[in-house]
Amino acid sequence: MSNNWINENQELIEIDGSYGEGGGQILRTSVALSLVTQRPVRIKNIRAKRNKSGLLRQHLTAVLAAAKIGNAELTGAELRSNTLTFRPGKVRHGKYHFAVGSAGSAALVFQTVLYPLLSTPGKSQIVFEGGTHNQKAPPFDFLERAFLPLLTRMGAKVKLCLHRRGFYPAGGGCMTAEIEGGDLRSLSLLERGPITSRRARALVANLPANIGNREIKEICKKLEWTREEAKAEVVQSDGPGNVVVLEVASEHCAEVFTGFGARGKRSEEVAREAIRELRAYLDSGVPVGEHLADQLLIPMALAGKGSFHTVPLTDHTTTNIELVRYLLGVEIDVNTRPHNGTVRVDVRR
Ligand code: ATP
Repeated sequence: MSNNWINENQELIEIDGSYGEGGGQILRTSVALSLVTQRPVRIKNIRAKRNKSGLLRQHLTAVLAAAKIGNAELTGAELRSNTLTFRPGKVRHGKYHFAVGSAGSAALVFQTVLYPLLSTPGKSQIVFEGGTHNQKAPPFDFLERAFLPLLTRMGAKVKLCLHRRGFYPAGGGCMTAEIEGGDLRSLSLLERGPITSRRARALVANLPANIGNREIKEICKKLEWTREEAKAEVVQSDGPGNVVVLEVASEHCAEVFTGFGARGKRSEEVAREAIRELRAYLDSGVPVGEHLADQLLIPMALAGKGSFHTVPLTDHTTTNIELVRYLLGVEIDVNTRPHNGTVRVDVRR
């Protein structure tokens, strides 16, 4: 079996990392599923569509973490490397400690080791150090409040705990995970249902507390949320950091949207960034937002069945669909509703 960017010979599966969205997700999905299926992979042109291509610290940490839990043989596992060969060994549970060594996302390292460990009997306790609140990666709040409850409904035994927040550029965050292997069951998320609760938080570390107050004021004004639903909090971290976290729980799932503070960016704009994402989600009427869509593919494929209704797919998700389809040998049907562009995704064996 082969398609234009994934080719296979007797020895290994070769994946072109420049395909589609051409970022780090191709790498993480490839090594995670290599451990699950016990098939060697070679990824070439790693992150070719990014300004700084190749393995950055966060990607290298994810690869080394996967190799550690799966006793894999590696070639090309160096910073800025563009080609990696990953030959999986036996996955073993245990106590592990993985540190990105920069503000790179600890959550993405967690997601790389999660599925091999869920697919193997036993229990692990893992410490992850690095960024816990990064732009363009799942913030801890998203993992805890949106992703994990769905994974738990699928039967996964996973606990996550945040010990210290890590923001870009200082990092220094720490989270732990307990993961117990076991079968996953299917999940259907076709309707959102009525909203059951809303919560806004503006977290500020080592910066004037007024930043959080201004963000909360903007949220209450624009979304007409009450002061009971929206709170500013001063939090501990090694360096400065600011994030706005908007959470909407509905009958069938919860979603989390974030806006990140940056030097020279007005507090109101940070709040509005998260508000725009939240509004787009609410207007779409679907239960699953763009990031959850991308992250539900692997667990549903491992369960052998799952369906969800989501917003128009990103390049990220369509690339991941092709890869998961190929590596796990599942069917993934994508049907776009012509009247509003929302999408139904069905995963089956
Ligand atoms: P690069 O794109 O530089 O290679 P990367 O490896 O950090 O970087 P991507 O390949 O873009 O990242 O993958 C990022 C992952 O983080 C995806 O799974 C995406 O769904 C998820 N993600 C990004 N932003 C958010 C967010 N705000 N909430 C939840 N998940 C997010």
